[in-house]
Amino acid sequence: MSADGKLVYLFSELNAAESRVEDWDSVRGLLGGKGANLAEMTRLGVPVPPGFIVTTEACGAYQDAGALPDEVWDQALAATEQVEKAVGRKLGDVREPLLLSCRSGAKFSMPGMMDTILNIGLNDQVAEGMSQATGNPRFVFDLYRRLVQMFSSVVLNVPEHLFEEVLTAARRHAGVDTDPELSAGDWRDVTRRFKDIVKTHTGKPFPTDPRDQLKLATEAVFRSWGGKRAVDYRNAAGIPHDLGTAVNIQTMVFGNFGEGSGTGVAMSRNAATGERELEGDFLVNAQGEDVVAGTRQTRPLAELNDFMPEAYEEFGRIAHELETHFRNMQDMEFTIERGKLWVLQTRDGKRTAQAEVRIAVDMVDEGLISQREAVLRVKPDQVDFFLHPQLDPAQAESSKPLAKGLNVSPGAAVGVVALDADTAERWARDGGKDVIMVRPETKPEDVHGMLAAKGIVTLRGGRTSHAALVARQFGKPAVVGADSLEIDLDKRELIADGEVVKEGEWISIDGTNGIVYMGQLPTVVPDLGNPYLLKILQWADEFRRLQVRANADYPRDAERAREYGAAGIGLCRTEHMFFESDRLPVVQRMILAKSRTERAEAIAELLPLQRNDFAGLFRAMDGLPVIIRLLDPPLHEFLPAYDELIQDLADLKVRLQHMHTMSEIDDALDQIRIKQDFLERVSALREANPMLGSRGVRLGILIPELTRMQTRAIFEAACRCAREGVDVHPEVMIPLPAHVKELQVQREALENEARTVMTEQGLEVDYKFGSMIEVPRAALTAAEMAGPAEFFSFGTNDLTQTTFGISRDDAEAGFLMDYIRKGILADNPFETIDPDGLGRLIHLAVEGGRSTRPDLEIGICGEHGGDPRSIALCHRLDLDYVSCSPYRVPIARLAAAQAALQAEGEGE
Ligand code: PEP
Ligand code: MG
Repeated sequence: MSADGKLVYLFSELNAAESRVEDWDSVRGLLGGKGANLAEMTRLGVPVPPGFIVTTEACGAYQDAGALPDEVWDQALAATEQVEKAVGRKLGDVREPLLLSCRSGAKFSMPGMMDTILNIGLNDQVAEGMSQATGNPRFVFDLYRRLVQMFSSVVLNVPEHLFEEVLTAARRHAGVDTDPELSAGDWRDVTRRFKDIVKTHTGKPFPTDPRDQLKLATEAVFRSWGGKRAVDYRNAAGIPHDLGTAVNIQTMVFGNFGEGSGTGVAMSRNAATGERELEGDFLVNAQGEDVVAGTRQTRPLAELNDFMPEAYEEFGRIAHELETHFRNMQDMEFTIERGKLWVLQTRDGKRTAQAEVRIAVDMVDEGLISQREAVLRVKPDQVDFFLHPQLDPAQAESSKPLAKGLNVSPGAAVGVVALDADTAERWARDGGKDVIMVRPETKPEDVHGMLAAKGIVTLRGGRTSHAALVARQFGKPAVVGADSLEIDLDKRELIADGEVVKEGEWISIDGTNGIVYMGQLPTVVPDLGNPYLLKILQWADEFRRLQVRANADYPRDAERAREYGAAGIGLCRTEHMFFESDRLPVVQRMILAKSRTERAEAIAELLPLQRNDFAGLFRAMDGLPVIIRLLDPPLHEFLPAYDELIQDLADLKVRLQHMHTMSEIDDALDQIRIKQDFLERVSALREANPMLGSRGVRLGILIPELTRMQTRAIFEAACRCAREGVDVHPEVMIPLPAHVKELQVQREALENEARTVMTEQGLEVDYKFGSMIEVPRAALTAAEMAGPAEFFSFGTNDLTQTTFGISRDDAEAGFLMDYIRKGILADNPFETIDPDGLGRLIHLAVEGGRSTRPDLEIGICGEHGGDPRSIALCHRLDLDYVSCSPYRVPIARLAAAQAALQAEGEGE
């Protein structure tokens, strides 16, 4: 608890909060994001309805005590009095009552995940008095029934459907279709019935004391921090569970006071594209929830100018001021009560990856933020988005759209239709299906389905609807407001334009253009040509210290990697070339050879193929280093599986007994002989632990001809390319050594062959000899390993396996995920480098290696090379480069820059 015991802050007390904590981030931690911004707007002179914040510390105190501590409540009551003074109305006053809203507001926004209660302060007497004072009982009883409904379901756990049934009956009785057509008498009646439901369901009357209402509502909001949907959301968004929420208690203003009133939401820039334009939706004569819920068709914000030009003009000015002040795109809520504009909320707007990138670049151009801030703002995952599939434009053009809606979250998604969140989750999680969730609109309780789905379609709602916000945040392609679609939940089908799509059938959605198609359309990966992204990456390159190389085995991968900004190849796994269909039989012959001559023949056949492969890589990487790793996997991986061979042989022998012609029998006998040969060799090569067996450098030592052939291929290709004018930099890498002797033996063999080739060719090429570090012993003896090795590359896949002692092939399908679910391990060590174990080992190896060879070049080439957190660790460990798949190169460039900027900020 705070030293001064202050647990409640008026919106006008921001200075007091600021003096308590060190920075704005901590202010947000204390007051919640929404509360801090309301207070900041109040200080800026933006019209904000007066109110106060019950802090996240009070939430902690509530959770500890299991009830609202007295000191919190006393302070809240005192703050209420201050608000009463500021607005000149009193809570519970019969003629001019103060009505309050009570909303959650955590440090990080969690839209719709926690509870809200509006119109606190109404009871029978207040409602009557207020009806007389306003002359508008219809309005007052609509507010009152909303209070009873919200309060009862949130605080008292009365099931929602009971209220919905009363509303349906009321409409039927009045002979109308919609709520706005109900009269004052109808609402009075509905309110009474609602209160009866409360009494029947809870055994107690609806609380009439406004202060009791306020206290219970505050407690309920604190409680909702621990609710399932809030917990699910935090898990998905990576928000810590111990932050707690603040509660904002604020004077109610009414957008449903008649035609001169209204309410809306707006973004200061286009949330899908990032364009600089104020966009949003509003409704005349409505409450805020009507806009967000998507239950009434909203109007575009620009039309507000026709209805209330002064308010429109003032809002435009405020939006600009807020954006400039917060130096970020703002997502705002406003209400106009009888012509007077009130801003109810502002926060940094959720946006698509494209919008994030464009806004960051534009804001640098506008002088609002620095290039550094721009680079830090874009998340590596958002770069990933640019590499995500889009619908194949040619196919999409020739397909008939099923429906069109708003393009709120770009990218393509293809999946089977699921008509509710539970089905979407079940099919995706248990059935492993790609699912598109299609709903009339989404609510916070649908989030689990949205997270499980590949994409989302709603029939109603606008750009700022719940579905749009959540989809954008999680990068799910989405089309909302596709109002020509109909859902028949009884028949579990979707109808549009005379077409019927049954639940479980395929649709494809284009979130970039807002179109829904029937069937399963092909997708394509976009190129990385977005000019704003290129700019961000260009700035990132200026800030980063780590080089980014690519793991590429083929010239086409190398070309893509280079296009994406790779500074060379960090790993070419030569065995991948051996698996190609034209080579595998030759490789098998090499393995099965019964004599040296036979083996030499097979190896000689592989030479020209490898030479061509390497030449392609050198040409693609003209001027840049290319690390080629000699053969690594256990040889049996190139041969048929043992069990399969046994089975095939048994089958063949059975079939033989039923064969009649000599040629059939001859054929079968030939096949049996071949399989028998395979089986003998496979049996001979069989190991209990192949990943710890004859693989890596051990193979090169066992089959020296292979090392010589690969070396020859590398140097012949290098000489040939050099002669063509290509600037070649081969780096030859030895996999999996554990002892320096292994390196010495290989270096000698390799240098002999390299020298022979260069003499034959009459050309010298500049090259390096290096070692992978993939077992703890190699890391621990790095000082010795750096004798023969001119570079190290940490094979963090194997190093994780050998350090943890868990199998990289089996662990993720077995206990490892359970470990993570149980919290035994915080992260999957095959995804993010374990900083304490592996990180320490790498640190030791870097120190050891550089003590022997100060200019030792050091990088990593395991899958971790494309993981932002691992990249940050590599930066801290002072590596020279990371190497990752070509598609992750842009992400790694950004992550490396962010690592450098963060380390700089921490006083590296
Ligand atoms: C590694 O082990 O991290 C590595 C890059 O080698 P491979 O994945 O080919 O074993
Ligand atoms: Mg390895």
